[in-house]
Amino acid sequence: MKKFYCLCGRRVFFDSLQCVACGAKLGFEPYSMQMISGWETSQGQFQEAGQSNLSFGSQHYEFCSNRADYNVCNWLKPANDGNKLCFGCSFNRTIPNLQRPDNLDRWRQFEVAKKRLLYGLLVLRLPVKSGFEDPQKGLLLDLIEDERSAPNHYPESFVATGFAGGVITINAIEADDAARESIRVAMNESYRTLLGHLRHESGHYFWFLQNPQGQLLEDFIFLFGDPSQDYQAALERHYQLGPIENWREYYISAYSSAHPLEDWAETWAHYLLIHDALESAYANGLVDFSPMEVPLESRIQTWADLSVAFNEINRSSGLRDTYPFVVTPQVKRKMQFVERFIILLAQANH
Ligand SMILES: [Zn+2]
Ligand SMILES: [Zn+2]
Ligand SMILES: [Zn+2]
Repeated sequence: MKKFYCLCGRRVFFDSLQCVACGAKLGFEPYSMQMISGWETSQGQFQEAGQSNLSFGSQHYEFCSNRADYNVCNWLKPANDGNKLCFGCSFNRTIPNLQRPDNLDRWRQFEVAKKRLLYGLLVLRLPVKSGFEDPQKGLLLDLIEDERSAPNHYPESFVATGFAGGVITINAIEADDAARESIRVAMNESYRTLLGHLRHESGHYFWFLQNPQGQLLEDFIFLFGDPSQDYQAALERHYQLGPIENWREYYISAYSSAHPLEDWAETWAHYLLIHDALESAYANGLVDFSPMEVPLESRIQTWADLSVAFNEINRSSGLRDTYPFVVTPQVKRKMQFVERFIILLAQANH
């Protein structure tokens, strides 16, 4: 993530709603990827600070209605474009019932993680269209409750976090810190985050979008295995027997060894994580190059050094490791495939 500043000079952040120094309202503009300071006019328009209302030809913006109505979004949209929602919120198909306590907070956490995912995808120039815009190939998101998140309302229901037919489903319980942490412990995982889930499921989405054939598919099979392997049987085997013994040598996570497409989604998620984390490291002066400027090989090496430092700092703070993973030479080859796949998608996008 890059650094953002209010027009007054104070540093602000990707999910900031307002500048704490001058009180200006902040809006993220996803087409230019800029944070814009301003205020809301009596007509509900967003008036950019330092711009005259009458300046001819300048872009006019409005806040997303999810800000006005629920305060869960800080993105801007073009004024009078016929939509109520910003680009980022246009992917939502289902949100939980906001009459129930906790759901507004879950949704807010979901928006923060989803916007960060979208930012990362846009930086990589990946094609991101909503399923309302492109019903065949677009992306939609469902945040849904089940028995675990709303036992009195959905008894004996089970919503699996996953991807199917262009739709990413996230169980609302994953946006609940205490509940997600207890799942992490029960599943003996070293890392479980909402952003991690979204990155993983986005890997399934881009696989579905690209639908690899020919040489690309052959190269995938060589590195990851045959994606047409029985999915249910593979997952059952994984949950019964656990990962293969020496998984660390070949896979980024234990879950990766469950099925070639799970390995794909995990490797994809880590590719995105490393890219975004290094962009943050660069913006904050910890490394002297942007991840866009150096080959994957150097990015992985730099991240290996940095993440050891972050882990040590976290341990000093009494926290768990930031990045409890190791990118082995085998995993690096798979990440090189992810990069090739991203470049193909980005080129087709332009
Ligand atoms: Zn300010
Ligand atoms: Zn929005
Ligand atoms: Zn998956």
